[in-house]
Amino acid sequence: MLSRLVPAPLVRLFARPYVAGYSMEFALASAGQLLDGVPLLSTLDLLGEHVTADEQVTANADTYARLLDAIASEPRFSEARERPTVSLKPSAFTTGDQRAAFTPIRALVERARERGVALTIDMEDHSWTDVTIERAVALYREGFDVGTVLQSRLNRYLDDVAAIPEGMRVRLVIGIYPESATIATTDKRVMKERLLEMAARLLDAGVYVEFATHDEAIVERFARELAPRAPGRCEVQMLLGVPRAKIQERLVRGELGVSLPVRLYVPFGIRKSDATAYLRRRMDENPRMVLDVLRNLLRRR
Ligand SMILES: Cc1cc2nc3c(=O)[nH]c(=O)nc-3n(C[C@H](O)[C@H](O)[C@H](O)COP(=O)(O)OP(=O)(O)OC[C@H]3O[C@@H](n4cnc5c(N)ncnc54)[C@H](O)[C@@H]3O)c2cc1C
Repeated sequence: MLSRLVPAPLVRLFARPYVAGYSMEFALASAGQLLDGVPLLSTLDLLGEHVTADEQVTANADTYARLLDAIASEPRFSEARERPTVSLKPSAFTTGDQRAAFTPIRALVERARERGVALTIDMEDHSWTDVTIERAVALYREGFDVGTVLQSRLNRYLDDVAAIPEGMRVRLVIGIYPESATIATTDKRVMKERLLEMAARLLDAGVYVEFATHDEAIVERFARELAPRAPGRCEVQMLLGVPRAKIQERLVRGELGVSLPVRLYVPFGIRKSDATAYLRRRMDENPRMVLDVLRNLLRRR
């Protein structure tokens, strides 16, 4: 993979636009700045999946608990509609057994409810799909504001759509993990058409849809053709650092049909190695990004 050839300090240089910083405070400041602009909403994510030691599980759970407290006590976020949500990856909470991850996650879900913060359980590679959907749906049915993520590249996508109950929040993505052609499509055009198909089905089923892609043509079709079916029941999500300011503003202002909230995914690290791993994944997914970021850095000088 291309990214393995790039030394870690250089990867972290590339990370600058994509990672809010190396502490929770940077992430909260970033969320505040986004509100001051267009405005844009945020979901905050601690980088640190695939842990290998129990101490890391404890540290991740502790950071998320403090993050929930900080969001709830920050006057800037007193209005529920503008409050950042949090996103977490199950593999950040176990060193092995996948089901074990959901014990600390449940404690965070309870704390999130006490603090009035919505929480999304991100989707990882296909080995996590069943357990993540099952646990997220069970928590939602218990009355928690828990959402999850469905990936359109997986050939099981219609079964996954059918598993989501009315009223739940679901983020729709093409999926970042390379999957075998025996279980997934490798054709990006198919992934994008599936995204729209999934959104249509979920909106018709009364689900809250978080449509997450940077493909402007697909976002525009979502905004014009599907969002008007479900006013107040959908939003668009993108990653911090991907330059999409124009379309984000047009979505919020309603210039593509109905006005839609736009939420940015704001990752922050505590350990530099976690930020490096996150960026290596993004570089592998989008090798052109290496050139784009380099061009931006040079232009600044
Ligand atoms: C808010 C959010 C949350 C996500 N959560 C998950 C998750 O839980 N699980 C999961 O598997 N995946 C997740 N993803 C990643 C997603 O699955 C895709 O891998 C990613 O969004 C790129 O696909 P795309 O739909 O934007 O289409 P693409 O065709 O990959 O990209 C469309 C355009 O955007 C540009 N672009 C895309 N990404 C970048 C980038 N990083 N830097 C610069 N330009 C870029 C491309 O160059 C292209 O021009 C998430 C994505 C978002 C936006």
